[in-house]
Amino acid sequence: MGFIYGARWKRLRIAQLKDDPWCNRCGGQACIVDHIKAHRGDEELGYDPDNLQSLCKPCHDSWKQMLEKSGKELGCSITGKPTDPNHPWNREQPTETKEMKEARLKL
Ligand SMILES: [Zn+2]
Repeated sequence: MGFIYGARWKRLRIAQLKDDPWCNRCGGQACIVDHIKAHRGDEELGYDPDNLQSLCKPCHDSWKQMLEKSGKELGCSITGKPTDPNHPWNREQPTETKEMKEARLKL
């Protein structure tokens, strides 16, 4: 029947916030449980605890919604490269290592 924001989701959400009460982006107090990958009604993704992250409201509103609207991933990795695999820096990366390529193809 697919994923719905019903009783099952509520239990999962509470468990996630208990497990990880801090915002995944800024480290502040989280109050929102967010799907890392958009579930689009998919039951498996929607209820997958590994697909959840805790966010505070400001981070959720600014970062996540921009990501969903633009279809682009914002931010960068610890190497300073944008995390969005479609970013020109990543597409035109002549010195891409094997590990970087593997990480990119998994996205
Ligand atoms: Zn935050």
